[in-house]
Amino acid sequence: TAHTVLLATTKPFAKDAVAAIKTICEEHGLVFDKLEGYKDRAELYAAVASAEACIVRSDVCDEEFFSHAKKLKVLVRAGAGVDAIDLAAATRHGVCVQNTPGQNSNAVAELAFGMLLAHKRNYFDGNSGTEIRGSSLGLYGCGNVSRFMILAAQGFGMDIYAYDPFLTPDQITDLGAEPLYDVPSIFKCDVVSLHVPSTRETKHSIDEKLLRSMPKGGVLINTARKNIVQEADLLKALVDRPDLSYLADDKPDNTEEIKESLGEVRVKKQFLVTPKKMGAQTAEANSNSGIAAAKQVVEFFRDNLVKHQVNVNGKHF
Ligand code: NAD
Repeated sequence: TAHTVLLATTKPFAKDAVAAIKTICEEHGLVFDKLEGYKDRAELYAAVASAEACIVRSDVCDEEFFSHAKKLKVLVRAGAGVDAIDLAAATRHGVCVQNTPGQNSNAVAELAFGMLLAHKRNYFDGNSGTEIRGSSLGLYGCGNVSRFMILAAQGFGMDIYAYDPFLTPDQITDLGAEPLYDVPSIFKCDVVSLHVPSTRETKHSIDEKLLRSMPKGGVLINTARKNIVQEADLLKALVDRPDLSYLADDKPDNTEEIKESLGEVRVKKQFLVTPKKMGAQTAEANSNSGIAAAKQVVEFFRDNLVKHQVNVNGKHF
């Protein structure tokens, strides 16, 4: 009998993306089912009860979810971050969890450059700004988003550096950046951009000392998780160094305190946060990740091929 694939999204995909996901499933003999914009968990539990595969976005998949998902074999997060999924519970229930890395990376890199350019031109308020050509860019992490950062930075004529202990110096050089060997070296750059996952090593790894070590006019861009930066230290560094700026897509918890301490004029110069996470919010990123998820489900059943599993051997990323 045909396998049933449930697309379960509180925040639905665009219509075109849903149509593409449905087509890919049906072309390969899978039964497509969808639950969009569900309001309570009971709806989700009822829908997932008969599904062998499930595609989600940032939907919460916890122990209770897996206990209702009696037939579930594969859960694909259309996107990168799997923080909303209890991976240990998935493993206990024998569910293979996958994500679709790389599908939103260009969108995130474009947001980072968009924020940087708007900042450098005073948010188009009519005052003279500065250019980024010739300045240095330091990348913390050199994965999927950083690859697009490098391509864009090359076009803008920046000097590009990257630190990533999971890549060899040659790999970093081949990607188009000069390899760095520790975190403090990144902070010597004019513009620093964070592209690491939130892990034991990276969480709270950006402290006051690093922030203060930035050159005059330094800009820190954070399109990664807010908890990479120590928020109390960020506040202190921004207050003491009026030349430093922080541009972020994941609003620090102490945003209001930072805004009050800086005052309106300095907030405009030094502090930009998007109202909600916007990095991956493009039509392209949404449909790319949905389509990639559907293809991974097809490969799972048709080819016994497991791609981008995130709960391997009890190791949870
Ligand atoms: P990725 O997994 O492709 O790349 C992350 C890189 O960081 C990898 O190359 C890894 O080797 C490196 N890394 C891991 N630990 C490190 C450490 N201690 N020091 C230096 N490098 C380290 O991920 P990505 O797609 O490039 O995304 C990066 C992060 O951005 C994600 O983990 C996520 O938190 C965030 N993100 C945000 C949005 C958004 O909407 N703002 C969207 C996508 C991703």
